[in-house]
Amino acid sequence: VKRPNYLAGLELDRASSLRSNPEKLEEAWSRPDTRVVPVFELKHPVTRREDGAVALTVLSPRDVDDFRGSRVLLGTSQGVAWFAVDLAGGEEPPGALGLREIAPLVSQSEGALLAYSFGILSWHRRHRFCGVCGSASRSTEGGHLRVCASESCGEQHFPRTDPAVIMLVEDGGRVLLGRQAAWREKVYSTLAGFVEPGESLEEAVRREVLEETGVEIEDVQYHSSQPWPFPSSLMLGFTARAKSRDIRVQLDELEDARWFTREQLRAGESVSLPSTISIARRLIEDWLKG
Ligand SMILES: [Zn+2]
Repeated sequence: VKRPNYLAGLELDRASSLRSNPEKLEEAWSRPDTRVVPVFELKHPVTRREDGAVALTVLSPRDVDDFRGSRVLLGTSQGVAWFAVDLAGGEEPPGALGLREIAPLVSQSEGALLAYSFGILSWHRRHRFCGVCGSASRSTEGGHLRVCASESCGEQHFPRTDPAVIMLVEDGGRVLLGRQAAWREKVYSTLAGFVEPGESLEEAVRREVLEETGVEIEDVQYHSSQPWPFPSSLMLGFTARAKSRDIRVQLDELEDARWFTREQLRAGESVSLPSTISIARRLIEDWLKG
């Protein structure tokens, strides 16, 4: 069995039936054992233990009653409800770090809990108004739906996930990696891009590789996926085989793209790999093992 990618592997029951029950939601919020994951401007305040390990800060509802930011039911675990709360409007809590920094330091399920919290709270922050009529919208269903407040409209808006494909292209002995100018020096990664309307995943994979590098591919195979809440992507990982080898870099997307051998990647002299938490790293490491 493959291990889940970083940011997946949530251990809560998402308890969707509880979302539509306002009385039970209020009752859960009133219980002192209810757990709250605080998020401040897409950072989370961690606690550092004496041995240097990092622990998530988990609060109870009374700790955050003063905050007016969004509140979302994440789910339940062993009869205890878990919420995420946006600490918007307050002061930045000490020790607050971004998800990219925290994820490598905490357990798989804690990383997933934070990714879920960041993803749904950023959706609330970015969707305060109805996209149909422009009126304000309000949160309902435990924070899993926004409804337009205009009676003549009333449009429902569901949390948004944007599919993006990310693909490891190989030619038998080498892998095709690219780099963006903004990245750390020497970092090369797998190619990636958003799926467009009216396009299948396989078509998106072929189009992105051709657009960015001029390389034609075949044998597109699904590998695994990863929630990537920066702010709302779902990364869909694929492998593919190159039909052509010549690279023609599209310079507005990439600074460079090259073929690398396993030896070059392992030696790491001219190339560094992407973040350990990324599915890109997982795709490359699985290829290195293969
Ligand atoms: Zn509306």
